[in-house]
Amino acid sequence: MSEKNVPDLKKIILKKDGVLEVPNFPIIPFIEGDGIGPDVWRAAVRVIDASIQKAYQGERKISWLEVLAGKKAFDTCGQWLPDETIAAFKKYLVGIKGPLTTPVGGGIRSLNVAIRKALDLYVCMRPVKYYPGVPSPVKNPEKVDMVIFRENTEDIYTGIEFEEGSAENKRFKALLEEHFPEEFAKIRFPDTAAIGLKPVSIEGTTRLVRAAIQWALDNHRKSVTLVHKGNIMKFTEGAFRNWGYDLAETEFGEYVYTQREWQKKKLDSGEAAADAEKNLALSGGKIYIKDIIADIALEQTITQPESFDVLATLNLNGDYLSDALAAQVGGVGIAPGGNINFEAGFAVFEATHGTAPIFANQNIVNPSSLILSGEMMLRYLGWNEAADFILSGLQTTIQEKTVTFDFHRLMEDAKLVKTSEFADAIIENMG
Ligand code: NAD
Repeated sequence: MSEKNVPDLKKIILKKDGVLEVPNFPIIPFIEGDGIGPDVWRAAVRVIDASIQKAYQGERKISWLEVLAGKKAFDTCGQWLPDETIAAFKKYLVGIKGPLTTPVGGGIRSLNVAIRKALDLYVCMRPVKYYPGVPSPVKNPEKVDMVIFRENTEDIYTGIEFEEGSAENKRFKALLEEHFPEEFAKIRFPDTAAIGLKPVSIEGTTRLVRAAIQWALDNHRKSVTLVHKGNIMKFTEGAFRNWGYDLAETEFGEYVYTQREWQKKKLDSGEAAADAEKNLALSGGKIYIKDIIADIALEQTITQPESFDVLATLNLNGDYLSDALAAQVGGVGIAPGGNINFEAGFAVFEATHGTAPIFANQNIVNPSSLILSGEMMLRYLGWNEAADFILSGLQTTIQEKTVTFDFHRLMEDAKLVKTSEFADAIIENMG
């Protein structure tokens, strides 16, 4: 579809009250992606369209608008991420993308990071849920049902790094030595140390934690866990924890009960009373806000997944946590993701795996990650009936053991199908 003469009524808009207004025939930009991107996109778009048709019988339909990024963009117009692509995502608010090749050596560091930055998509939302029948390396994968809210704009991903041996590195270290001699003295090998910076702000933390708690409330979840490494990085990760609790207690006090309050009461009034109060608060339907150190979080989310629900964390922790948890429920081939700015309404949903170039153009890979990202997108639009059809179609197909090669090699008596045939089966199994 051409972007010219698009009537305004087909644009999704964010109303003043912060609620999305979604027309029945919205224009949604998509990037098909590089490598296996076209394979998974062709399958995903058919499944998404079929779910909408089944749910609304023609009364709703997405008008897809292709925008370019990655290798296809570079080959077409000499740019990895054309300005028009960002402009389209800004104009139409909601979009979806396949995986993108990150050009190695120079230029843009990562196209995904560039898109997140351009739209200030401060939440990377990664649901981690088990679908019965999916091969899993853990004993009780059905206990896994978590949603990770990863901060997307700060932390060491800001990209402020000074390469070893560079003039900038020397200048930065000279400044550090001059103005912060005690800190400089902590560097074990100052002559050859590369340096990276880790900015973590009150604004960045509070908007992320606010989004996580609000989502937990809207979706009737039980707890939000702040995951951090505050025992070591006190003023960045530790501050994330403290600011998170501050926000929970000041903005959501009526609806949440925090571990920090509970611990304080435990000290003030004795353990038994505090325990009773905590249990009362939780049974009263309040969301429990707690915190955990990142390394033990990686252990406990595997050994006792039932203790975790919504997780809010900084960028690097979130990156590790998302893929580690995805492994419990079938890996990145089935893990969906969305990058969202809840204040501006911008959202780009995406496959969480990469371009897997050795499998490109063979129609064999698993399209579930992009299909489930489409499912997340439909829920973001409020088109829950269509989203439910995607889930039921996917669940039945996997339970019937009709799967692509990645699952097939881990399952007994399964039927091996191609990417497109997997999409056909999902469509057939809807409802
Ligand atoms: P990758 O996810 O592309 O591939 C790793 C392995 O995972 C593959 O060899 C394959 O065995 C498996 N795999 C991935 N997706 C699958 C699917 N849909 N079905 C079945 N198996 C699947 O990761 P990589 O090799 O580290 O990265 C390759 C390229 O992708 C790099 O250029 C990297 O920068 C890029 N990348 C992009 C994104 C993104 O756009 N969101 C994310 C990660 C990596």
